Amino acid sequence: AKNLIEVEHVKKYFPIHKGLLNRVVGNVKAVDDVSITIREGETFGLVGESGCGKSTLGRVILRLQNATAGAVKFNGRDIHSMGSKELNKMREEMQIIFQDPFGSLNPRFLVKDIIGEPLKVHTKMSSSEIEKRVIELMELVGLDASRRNRYPHEFSGGQRQRIGIARAIALNPKFIVADEAVSALDVSVQSQVINLLMKLQREMGLTFLFIAHGLNVVRHISDRVGVMYLGKMVEVGETEALYANPLHPYTAALLSAIPKPSPTKKRNRIVLQGDVPSPANPPSGCRFHPRCPFAQEKCSQVEPALTEVLPGRQVACHFPIGVEGGSDLNSLK
Ligand code: SF4
Ligand code: MG
Repeated sequence: AKNLIEVEHVKKYFPIHKGLLNRVVGNVKAVDDVSITIREGETFGLVGESGCGKSTLGRVILRLQNATAGAVKFNGRDIHSMGSKELNKMREEMQIIFQDPFGSLNPRFLVKDIIGEPLKVHTKMSSSEIEKRVIELMELVGLDASRRNRYPHEFSGGQRQRIGIARAIALNPKFIVADEAVSALDVSVQSQVINLLMKLQREMGLTFLFIAHGLNVVRHISDRVGVMYLGKMVEVGETEALYANPLHPYTAALLSAIPKPSPTKKRNRIVLQGDVPSPANPPSGCRFHPRCPFAQEKCSQVEPALTEVLPGRQVACHFPIGVEGGSDLNSLK
């Protein structure tokens, strides 16, 4: 498949102001030189602990925030160099679903007006045409359309997420960023919403960037997964290959944190030590080195670049796990 999204050397820095003169004394490097591609029709899962920059990257990809540097191409065109008119047109193709359907749905609006709003803003449809489309959309996402004249608080958490999804697909977009879209839901409701997204993807040919903090949530839905740490992309790979053989010690640590049904294999697990350092003052060299059980001298001195070390497998590590000359999980005590 062709690339729908091309993220090229994107940086997003937030200045830190200090003192009476409000001088800039530094930058929080929320996203620091990230390049990825998302293929048409695929789901790219993006994971990492909170504060690693994954939500910021999602917002920069949609240009809900401007990049500090770099380019984001949608169908080959850089959305960060578009004027507002062109960008507005582009917005119909790109949508976002948020974590908190309560916070993102206006509580004083009827559900039909929430779902119909993008149609009102971006099309010339009459109100009866909009209502007809809203009924269609509600049925498409598994909601009882006879409840369209109700308010969001009359719906459960999972149903509110379906309202957010109906609204996001109203304009037939090509690309959707789901930012922790299922993180607040119970596990059983989570899988219902994930199955709905996968059904819509098949039926509408959607492309997803699916953001979550844990690797377990993204596994079922993602074709490929990217792992972020402190503003950097540290590993990208096909989902099953990445779960079976993580190359980056941080990916291995995230996988170690997933509870297994029968915890017989206790060894070969990486337990993360310490907290995530501040992105305002990241560690030198490899940003993961203070927490990495495999760190060597080079790691604190030289920053590793994201490199393809196996077909379809990229990693930013001087000593990737299971690769010749790299790290060995069995050496852990
Ligand atoms: Fe660990 Fe070194 Fe690899 Fe960083 S570069 S993840 S410190 S082995
Ligand atoms: Mg977030």
